Amino acid sequence: MVLSEFVGNEEVIYEISETMKNRLLPHAILIEGVKGSGKRSLARILAQYAVCSAEGDRPCGVCPACIKAEKGIHPDIVTADGSKAGELNIEAVRSIRSAAYIKPNEGENRVFLMHFCEKMLPAAQNAFLKVLEEPPQNVLFVLTAVSATSLLQTIRSRTRIYSLYPPSVNEAETVLKKMFPDKDASLLSEAAQNSGGNIGAAIELLNTGGEEEKKTAEAIFRAIPLSTEYALLTETFKITKDRGFAITVLERLYELSAECLKASCGAKNVSPIALELSKTLSKKRLQALFFQVQKARDVLKYNVNLNFYSTWLCSVLRRY
Ligand SMILES: [Zn+2]
Repeated sequence: MVLSEFVGNEEVIYEISETMKNRLLPHAILIEGVKGSGKRSLARILAQYAVCSAEGDRPCGVCPACIKAEKGIHPDIVTADGSKAGELNIEAVRSIRSAAYIKPNEGENRVFLMHFCEKMLPAAQNAFLKVLEEPPQNVLFVLTAVSATSLLQTIRSRTRIYSLYPPSVNEAETVLKKMFPDKDASLLSEAAQNSGGNIGAAIELLNTGGEEEKKTAEAIFRAIPLSTEYALLTETFKITKDRGFAITVLERLYELSAECLKASCGAKNVSPIALELSKTLSKKRLQALFFQVQKARDVLKYNVNLNFYSTWLCSVLRRY
């Protein structure tokens, strides 16, 4: 994948492409953004850029180095994932530090892709800071995290930070069509819609069929009229397992509340579940609920803490 194929985030991508053209990429980059915003894809492109051997625009995407990078087998690209045990603890960071001083095997540069950097404990971050303070020549560090603020200020100030936002529903649809040329177009468009444009969540939906998300949204809805707040909190807490999951559940909840509202206004073409659920709340409450769910769905597009969000969601849904 080359930079021009990256969908969405035009401003950031333009800035990076200009930096690449002028060969002015810094030695440490931190990419922040929620799951599905394209952090890993961008990190891969940056790694490819650093090892590409083309004379003209880099990464070219076709030279042997680019192809190896694409396949994940380039010897000068090292990946560490903080979500996997031991890959970004203090010992691992120390070995990254020593490895950074080794000359590249094949190309001009060595690249260290470090994902889930929010999982790095302060001691590991401090160990990493040492190499950032005196960076060796010909090394590129690409860090990714949901939020840059999860890293120490001393690290942030020594990296260039790029913030990514999930693409729009239309942009996501374009990406999905490229990724899954054999899949039915209407299925892809539905997945893009139901994931609110979040590509990671859309892929998961395509893989799982979205049954669990649908069930969770229905369970949340059923718990709203119940007299105990605990029942609703138990259901809203389920969305904390994963951001992509939370986004899709909220999309489903939004659709469901819209359909219930339609049912309460006498519409005939609604699903049996919406018809059933619409009877559990008054029309006035359904109306208020619809707007509240819409707002809650939009809040999720920002980088909110899921634990706080699920509690907040419970409290706003209780009000209606
Ligand atoms: Zn190349």
